[in-house]
Amino acid sequence: MYRIIATWKFALSAVTMGAKVLSSGGRALDAAEAGIRLTESDPDIDCVGLGGFLNRDGELELDAAVMDGDTLKTGAVIGIKNYEHPITVARAVMEKTMHNILVGRGAESFAREIGIESRPMLDMITPGARKLWEEKRAEKAAASGHDTIGFLALDSHGSIVSATSTSGMGMKLPGRSGDSPIIGSGFYAESGVGAASATGWGEDIMRTCMSFRMTEMIRAGADPQKAADTAVITACETMIRHGTKPREMAVICLDADGRIGAACNHKGFAYVTACEGGEPTTVDVEPIIDKDTL
Ligand code: ASP
Repeated sequence: MYRIIATWKFALSAVTMGAKVLSSGGRALDAAEAGIRLTESDPDIDCVGLGGFLNRDGELELDAAVMDGDTLKTGAVIGIKNYEHPITVARAVMEKTMHNILVGRGAESFAREIGIESRPMLDMITPGARKLWEEKRAEKAAASGHDTIGFLALDSHGSIVSATSTSGMGMKLPGRSGDSPIIGSGFYAESGVGAASATGWGEDIMRTCMSFRMTEMIRAGADPQKAADTAVITACETMIRHGTKPREMAVICLDADGRIGAACNHKGFAYVTACEGGEPTTVDVEPIIDKDTL
């Protein structure tokens, strides 16, 4: 038995690839990396890898992370440039170093040292991303515009993995990290329990530690759908109680039996899922709470 759930409609090719790996008995880690690499290379996906949103200075700085639920080992890179596959560098941080996170130039020199293929940043900036950046710069627009691939996989060996990759928010300050490479916020996994991932305003998701929160609810016996709904509602209510208006947040989670959950506080969120004997399916998610009416 295997199960995959990943954030946003654009995850279809990643989930299809991941399902191919898992249906032939492959490992969740390999499925997550192989799937996300496809998303990272797709120039039409404007928020992950090649073709992603640019920062305030017109640079493409990428974040990615992975957590192996068997060992609780995790690897992440923040603000890496000149690499098309930050997920592969994140996995190498997990597997080949004693650290959890490498940032910026440190992540790049590590990737170079271990022979991961680089690609000049300028080569990965698409005309569309450059045009959008120029328009935003002319408008003096604040940072906005986002999305992340969050990819959860349970394989036939019972191993659970959570992985993410994103260019983060468009027009972000150089060096800004969102939640996606931060353990417990943008991703979490523990085999035998479950896994979770989040997408949306990283600053809000980090404040409320969404992914660890969901995994802990599953550990305490919650059905994943209940865990996802409760995480979004509690995060929004907690922020309101402390005088901060929540912005877009969406979450997915998975338990050790392959049951899934998803929730959001805004319209437009969808996920893609696949399991044994079925085709990958895209599912639109109705908001459980509306951030605009809070
Ligand atoms: N959470 C990501 C970030 O803040 C973006 C997103 O998933 O929408 O960088």
